[in-house]
Amino acid sequence: MHRFKITELGENAFWLRGDEREHLVRVLRLVPGDDIVGFDNTGAEYYATILKIEDKSVTCRILETSHPEVEAKTKVYLVAGLSKGEKMEWVIQKGTELGMSGLVPLRVKRAVMRLEGNKAVDRVERWQKIASEAAKQSHRVQEPKIFAVADWVELQKVLPANTQWLIPYEEEKTERLFTVLNSLAPLLPIALIIGPEGGFEPSEVTWAQEHLGAKSVSLGPRILRAETAALAATAMVLAHYGDLG
Ligand code: SAH
Repeated sequence: MHRFKITELGENAFWLRGDEREHLVRVLRLVPGDDIVGFDNTGAEYYATILKIEDKSVTCRILETSHPEVEAKTKVYLVAGLSKGEKMEWVIQKGTELGMSGLVPLRVKRAVMRLEGNKAVDRVERWQKIASEAAKQSHRVQEPKIFAVADWVELQKVLPANTQWLIPYEEEKTERLFTVLNSLAPLLPIALIIGPEGGFEPSEVTWAQEHLGAKSVSLGPRILRAETAALAATAMVLAHYGDLG
């Protein structure tokens, strides 16, 4: 059953416009009478049938509304030091499947790429599309948000005020992730700050500890690639809170 992000929700109908309409008409070639599923990032899912297809919109009649328990209860945000493009895309796709709530691309000292101005806006737009597609594929009803590329000082404004900041740091030898998680109250948003291929400058870790109250944690004695660390940490946090079944 094909899934679509609803453009406009009515009483017992919804409409698809723009890219969602194009995908339905041109790629999937669906026709009136076909059944589809719509979601609108509120946690609800709408089983519907296509009523009519016009040149700007598709009208669908809602047959059944449900609130599937598919989203993670704990909001996990990845704060990812700018890595190579395709690595970021891979982390966004896999992080979405795992259940992350959002990703903040972070400008770090040893970043592999520089993203500024329109180039940054275009790249974030592309990353949001990847997150949206992965949300559909994994039957989520909430797309993760890809935030604008941020500097360290902007992080606090971007994520919720009660976010608990964890910074998996390759030089951290003692503090274990689970020890820190056990010390936190449940259901608080968790931000995982992951370095780029080149790792963090010690001054960045200190800054995060001082300004965000970030806790430096180890992911074990082996050095993981940035993308591996991002997904391993996400999976471990979600598993810890029972959000991976
Ligand atoms: N270039 C560095 C490694 C950077 S790995 C080196 O070779 O030492 C990229 C990021 O993944 C790190 O900045 C950190 O956020 C995370 N990471 C990788 N392995 C880790 C580990 N064993 N413990 C904690 N974080 C780790």
